[in-house]
Amino acid sequence: MMKEFDYLKPSTLNGAHNLLVKHKREAYIFNGGTDLIVRMREEITNPNVVIDIKGIENLHEISYKNKECLSVGACVKLSEIPKYKDVTEKYAILTEAIHNIGSIQLRNRATMTGNICNASPLADSATPLLVLDAKIVIYGKEGLKRVLVKDFITGVRKTILETGEIVTAIEIPIYEKPIIGLFQKMSRRKMVDLSTVCGTVARINGEIRVALGAVSPTPVRGVKTEAFLRGKVLTDEVIREAGEIIVTDISPISDIRASKEYRLDMAKLIVKRGLVHIREGQLNWGEQSEA
Ligand SMILES: Cc1cc2nc3c(=O)[nH]c(=O)nc-3n(C[C@H](O)[C@H](O)[C@H](O)COP(=O)(O)OP(=O)(O)OC[C@H]3O[C@@H](n4cnc5c(N)ncnc54)[C@H](O)[C@@H]3O)c2cc1C
Repeated sequence: MMKEFDYLKPSTLNGAHNLLVKHKREAYIFNGGTDLIVRMREEITNPNVVIDIKGIENLHEISYKNKECLSVGACVKLSEIPKYKDVTEKYAILTEAIHNIGSIQLRNRATMTGNICNASPLADSATPLLVLDAKIVIYGKEGLKRVLVKDFITGVRKTILETGEIVTAIEIPIYEKPIIGLFQKMSRRKMVDLSTVCGTVARINGEIRVALGAVSPTPVRGVKTEAFLRGKVLTDEVIREAGEIIVTDISPISDIRASKEYRLDMAKLIVKRGLVHIREGQLNWGEQSEA
């Protein structure tokens, strides 16, 4: 049975910060609640105080800031993101990942910030955000600071957030050239299922970037695979080799969803399919020589 708790709904960021500082580890931030409430019902997380941040008006904003980035406020629902201006055109890898999170009902409640703060290794929005070099905006005692997604998630359900800190937005850089890329998700069911393996392969600013989820304690960039691909033309042989190198970037485990061996195979497949997609995209854009 869910433990009794106090529900507090501050209307300012500073008010939320002060409550978090006052109640320390007793308090949890409540955003869409689709992770938190499940964990509370299952008595994995047992807060004495739940701080609902949805009363803080400016956390609901989504906008392009100074032509530099798309800023997605912490309380913007997943379903609102693809509908905003030309987000789907600019960041198809991200909107594809969002469409793959849960169901319509879930996406109408859940947020991208919650998906990242929950710090699950299989968070579907994490791999597109990793390749896009997105930044997490954090409000704390020293005001605002920005941290790359890759430095924000530090372990299974662990982030760098300290007592009193609140994520206010996720900022995604605007890239001049169109991004060619593919988000892929392998799961036991086609819909409303968590990823067995997920990943994003994209060509951004002329370089190929790779990120995978559910194959390491945190979603990860394929650093060695990216280094191998730098400056190379995507021949069949290069794509095959990249599909082998990716296994050195990850450390999957066996669990209820899949074996380690299956995850290794799916990781290879995600990388190879992604690279073939980029090669075809380049041909369409007439850019084959610019791998
Ligand atoms: C049926 C079902 C299906 C699902 N399917 C998927 C799926 O396919 N893919 C997937 O990736 N996930 C899935 N999830 C998990 C979940 O829905 C997502 O992770 C969702 O994006 C979480 O967002 P939220 O706003 O509901 O977070 P919440 O539950 O409100 O919060 C999650 C965690 O982040 C913290 N937090 C939230 N906002 C902030 C903030 N601003 N600053 C600091 N900390 C914060 C909370 O304290 C909590 O610990 C599913 C969940 C359910 C119940």
